[in-house]
Amino acid sequence: SEKLRTEQVTKRYNDVAALQPTTLSMRDGEFLTLLGPSGSGKTTLLSLIAGLTEPTGGDIWIDGRRVTDEPSAKRGLGMVFQNYALFPHLSIYENIAFPLRMRRMGAAEIDAAVRRVLDLIHLPHVAERLPRELSGGQQQRIALARCIVYEPSIILMDEPLGALDKNLREHMQTEIKRLHVELGITILYVTHDQEEALSMSDRICLMNNARVEQIGTPAELYFKP
Ligand code: ADP
Ligand code: ADP
Repeated sequence: SEKLRTEQVTKRYNDVAALQPTTLSMRDGEFLTLLGPSGSGKTTLLSLIAGLTEPTGGDIWIDGRRVTDEPSAKRGLGMVFQNYALFPHLSIYENIAFPLRMRRMGAAEIDAAVRRVLDLIHLPHVAERLPRELSGGQQQRIALARCIVYEPSIILMDEPLGALDKNLREHMQTEIKRLHVELGITILYVTHDQEEALSMSDRICLMNNARVEQIGTPAELYFKP
């Protein structure tokens, strides 16, 4: 079934088109990557979907519901960015519990959920630590856990591994892909790294000059004669 749809969604800043009219669809459980050079409109498209930027035109649907005029918090999305944005003074446990407390979930239910995602990311032992006591890769996994824990409809990731070095980046690619497959979550991923896009995506959306130039599976885009 269809998870996300944009219909001729567009963004202009005065005379500059940050995103030309874009029509795009994602199915439930899909891993779709926006791939393109800096300035090609990737972040603009992602933040329009997230509701962090107001479109100049067009419409957005999530789970069949028109969300174009809905505030970000109502769209049921999870977001993971390059700078993990963990709360520095809260323990890992409290960082992950935070979105659940906001939802007024009961203590026992929160505890079960936090333990479950810590197991899922293979970090059951770090609950009582502070973010700064963890490595970059571990912190990025906590950010992912905090996102997964409230079961968002779609997870949006903007260059989430951009701040990590090569080894760790490859390790995290495998980790994110594993979570995607195990949990069946729908992921919209942004990167300028072609290898990263090829290794992780079900489909890739090639962006250039504020527009989608091509969209297809890695095989369709790169390995066909
Ligand atoms: P990418 O994420 O692919 O690097 P962006 O979506 O950030 O690209 O930017 C697309 C284009 O829109 C760029 O030309 C950028 O300069 C322009 N742009 C983005 N945000 C703004 C803004 N707030 N004001 C003016 N121009 C912007
Ligand atoms: P963990 O050690 O619990 O797996 P990390 O996500 O920090 O947590 O590390 C993942 C993998 O990446 C490990 O194999 C680790 O040895 C390696 N690694 C960690 N930090 C770095 C780094 N700065 N550069 C290269 N490899 C790293």
